[in-house]
Amino acid sequence: MQLTFLGATNTVTGSKFLLKLDNKTILIDCGLFQGLKELRLRNWVKFPIDPKTIDIVILTHAHIDHSGYLPVLMKNGFRGKVYCSHATRDLCAVLLPDSGFLQEEEAKNANKYGYSKHQPAIPLYTRADAERTLELFHPLEFRKKYKLDDEASVSLIPAGHILGATFVQIKNYNETLLFSGDLGRPNDIVMHPPSIMQEADYLVLESTYGNRLHAKVDPLIQLAEVITRTVERGGTIVIPAFAVGRAQHMLYLMYLLKKSNRIPSVPIYLDSPMAKDATDIFMKYSSQHRLDAELSKKVCEVATYINSKQESQLLDKEVFSKIIISASGMLEGGRVLHHIKTFASDERSTIVFTGYQAAGTRGADIIRGKRQLKVFGESIEVNAEVSVLSNMSAHADYEEILEWLSHFNHHPKKVFITHGEPEAALSLKEKIEERFHWTCVVPDYMYTETL
Ligand SMILES: [Zn+2]
Repeated sequence: MQLTFLGATNTVTGSKFLLKLDNKTILIDCGLFQGLKELRLRNWVKFPIDPKTIDIVILTHAHIDHSGYLPVLMKNGFRGKVYCSHATRDLCAVLLPDSGFLQEEEAKNANKYGYSKHQPAIPLYTRADAERTLELFHPLEFRKKYKLDDEASVSLIPAGHILGATFVQIKNYNETLLFSGDLGRPNDIVMHPPSIMQEADYLVLESTYGNRLHAKVDPLIQLAEVITRTVERGGTIVIPAFAVGRAQHMLYLMYLLKKSNRIPSVPIYLDSPMAKDATDIFMKYSSQHRLDAELSKKVCEVATYINSKQESQLLDKEVFSKIIISASGMLEGGRVLHHIKTFASDERSTIVFTGYQAAGTRGADIIRGKRQLKVFGESIEVNAEVSVLSNMSAHADYEEILEWLSHFNHHPKKVFITHGEPEAALSLKEKIEERFHWTCVVPDYMYTETL
């Protein structure tokens, strides 16, 4: 076997791992690079192997940094099958076309405001490309074994994190490879804990929080406080949230706060048609998370859903206090940018970040204290309060990762540490070496190893 790391090396985006078996070429995850420009440029370079030669793509989950490059692969000749869980397939049917739409909008805006070096700016892929990609999907059941070739099989095992997220376990001859995808948390209020795994000869492990622990604060208390003080000064709360996963999580928190009268009675808007679609899918798979069908329904009723662009823009003209949950989660695109353009400069308002902000994104810049933003080519001042909900992550922190690893019943031959900024990956490597004495590698971009 030969394993090549084509993404998520010393960064949290662009997950792509190429696995060559005797007779099959398999790509595990097919994510888009996001954040820093030098990373995003990699989305545009020629794929290192001919996409026609890839037989199967296996997705750990639907997040764009794990699935969003698929339409590019397809455009360049990939015609194989895409394996993933049923919920991941449904979520990709929402996320990928939206990603294509955002790329088209971005190119359109760049042409309109003239801020691209390319004349004319073209989208990486379109909504139509993304829709065609969906025809290649073949959803698999959890935990069942599916044949890849005569000697190899794959199983998808629930990983927590977000709806549909799985580990990818590949058995080839008598060796087992395990790809963690994104590892969920043991006590997530919405998702079930990640499955306990006991063996892997080779482990490809994420390290988003490899050097950090989540604060043990209750996000409900933090959220109640920040909403209350913002409303008291007449401001609006803008919550950038990933449409899939985080938006549903936020609705649940809002439901709990409203039910117990812990926040003032102000309107709550979910301004993301994609988050609405994702919420419907969330309800469809109610056995795969902690909220049953009845509770899911109540949670969904906590917000007013905004559909049209006009309705969305009207929100910015309303003078009363309100809560706007809108995508994208790292302020890289989507409707939330219009709200940020309106409310970031208002010192009465608050921007509440709820998830990991990758380096190079507007979200990461604001959290680091940057007070000047560029939105649609225009300079915006950030005068609003900036708040970060600290215990909301869908990723395990390093203690939670180590706890998950402690169930392995024998040493992996090697652990490849991926999906983390350099400090996080290195720090997790040291912790695993110290606690378990396992051999760990932090692979570089394009690093290949024969297993
Ligand atoms: Zn993810």
